This record gives sequence, structure tokens and C-alpha cells, in this order.
Amino acid sequence: MSNEFDIIKKYFTHPTSHTDLGVGDDAALIQVAKGCQLAISTDISVVGTHFFKDTAPHDIGWKSLAVNVSDMAAMGANPKWATLSITLPEVDDAWLVEFSRGFLACADFFKIDLIGGDTTRGPLNIAVQIMGEIPVGEALTRSGAKAGDDIWVSGNLGSAALGLAHLQQHQALNDETTRNACLKALHTPQPSIALGLALRALAHSCIDISDGLLADLGHILKASNVGATIQLEKIPCLPAFTAYIKEPTIQQAVLAGGDDYELCFTASPSMHSTISAFSKTRNINLAKIGKVNASGALVVTLEKENLTMTQLGYDHF
Ligand code: ADP
Ligand code: MG
Repeated sequence: MSNEFDIIKKYFTHPTSHTDLGVGDDAALIQVAKGCQLAISTDISVVGTHFFKDTAPHDIGWKSLAVNVSDMAAMGANPKWATLSITLPEVDDAWLVEFSRGFLACADFFKIDLIGGDTTRGPLNIAVQIMGEIPVGEALTRSGAKAGDDIWVSGNLGSAALGLAHLQQHQALNDETTRNACLKALHTPQPSIALGLALRALAHSCIDISDGLLADLGHILKASNVGATIQLEKIPCLPAFTAYIKEPTIQQAVLAGGDDYELCFTASPSMHSTISAFSKTRNINLAKIGKVNASGALVVTLEKENLTMTQLGYDHF
């Protein structure tokens, strides 16, 4: 039977590469590079709300850190450190082995040091704080969009939402390749730090898509005091869904499904060729889906016809 200290030692003490004092003392010590700001963000993952009780523990571990990495990407920050505060209903060694393996695989992939946290008994609940560096003044914010900007998104939208709908038996995904891609998007999101870092020099505003494109683009528009028109047929989704973009469930997933962890950003049209070139050389899919305007409203069109918010099944505003 393990106690709290055994758990920390066994599962959450991992070599660090850029930390002065990590797990084991009353506080960790880190040094932020000269000329950099510390970007700090936190996300909590709760059983029943963010994942199912029987979700593979490896994937819970990966995703609980990856959703925080996504916030770093959105700011143009380079993630460096994380803390993990976890409440566990019981000490289940098999679960902890897999959970820590997933969490630390994500940490290693993004070169993030796990520098501390807290471990107590309670309903399964995982709070991660992430810290990253940004050269002073280079952060990407939600408030920088300008009328005339192009609106871009990375990757495919709606995959995770359709994967979730499949698990809830609301959506059949008969094609194996498509089903696997959707479940992978849902369980092991892959945020792109490389994109976030490049966007420091290219974008006017940026957000990560965690609550659905319309909601998150809505945050940019509100913070920037602008409006936008986006074209549904330009929004990238998995090939299996492009022909079905008129179907409400697919539309809903692409426009308002959660858990995409892709970036939505706005940039001057003068950046168009640089952004396209970056997309090609780095093999990161980027699609231009619309334009920022001065209207203050968000309009979605499909084949030049306006879709109403009721048609979109969208009532967040
Ligand atoms: P204290 O009682 O001073 O709060 P703790 O016993 O909670 O200390 O933690 C001991 C050490 O282990 C601290 O360095 C803390 O940051 C670290 N720690 C606790 N839980 C975790 C965890 N889940 N992951 C990583 N480090 C942890
Ligand atoms: Mg403590």
C-alpha cells in the first residue's frame, strides 16, 4: 500500500532539464530567460465532465497536459514547466502507472519539466498549471484582430466532437480510418507549439479552439471589437465529412464541437504568402476560412447563403 509520498516518488518524480529545484521541496525554483515574460495557464480535468471514468488512464494523462500546452501555443509561448495537482479516489497502481506514463510522454514530447504539484484523496480530478516563456511584448492575444484581417485555422475541426458523439452512440463512424482519427483527436490531442511560435511574427490575434470554432472565434471578435464572415465550406474537416457538411450533426461538430485544440488566428492579407509557405514547409495544415470586418457580428455562409444561428443549432451568444 502506497502513501502520498510513495506515489509522488514513484510516479511523479521525473528528470528535469531546465529547473533549479524540482519535486521534493516546499517549492520549486526556476529561472525565466532574460527578456522573457512568464506565460501561466491552468486547466482542470474532472471525471464525468472532461473524460469518462473508463477512459484509458494513459490518454487522461496525455490530455490533461496537452490541453494546457494548447493554451501556450495560442499565446505564442514556449512551454517549459508544469505542476500537477491530483485528487485520487484510491491508490490504483495499475492506473497510476498508465496515467503518469501518458502525462510524462506529453511532458517529454514538448520538453516540459514537471516541477511540483499536490496529491490528495478525493474524486478523480486533475489540475495542471503550465508555465512558458515569451519574449517581452511578443505574446499573441485575443484582442489584436483588425478589420480586413484574414481568418485562419489549423488542422481539421470537428474530429474530436464526432469521436465523442461516436462513443456516446450518437454518431456512427463506420469507416475505420475515420473512426480512429476521431478517437485519436478526442483522446490524444496534438497541439502545435511550432505553429504558435511562428505566429508571433505573423498573426494579429490568436486563440486555441477548445469550446468550438464559433465560440472561440467569438472571443477574438469580442476582445478586438470587430465582426467576421466565415465560409463553412472552407473550414477543414476529415475527408470523410466534407461531402456531408450540410448535415446538421457534421456542421455542429465542425462549428461548435469542443476539444479541437487547433489554433484560430487572424493576420493581415499581406502575410498570406508567408503563412502558406510556412504551412507547406512545416507540413502544418492551415486554411483561410474568412475575413474580419468592422460589423461586430459573426456571419457564417454556405455556398454564399447566410446560415442563421438557429440553423447552426448554436445559441451561445
Ligand atoms: P507540502 O506538504 O509542503 O505541500 P507535499 O507533500 O504536498 O508538500 O509535496 C511534496 C513535494 O512533491 C513537493 O515538491 C510537491 O510540489 C511535489 N508533488 C506533490 N504532488 C505532486 C504531483 N502529483 N506531481 C508532481 N509533484 C508533486
Ligand atoms: Mg502539498
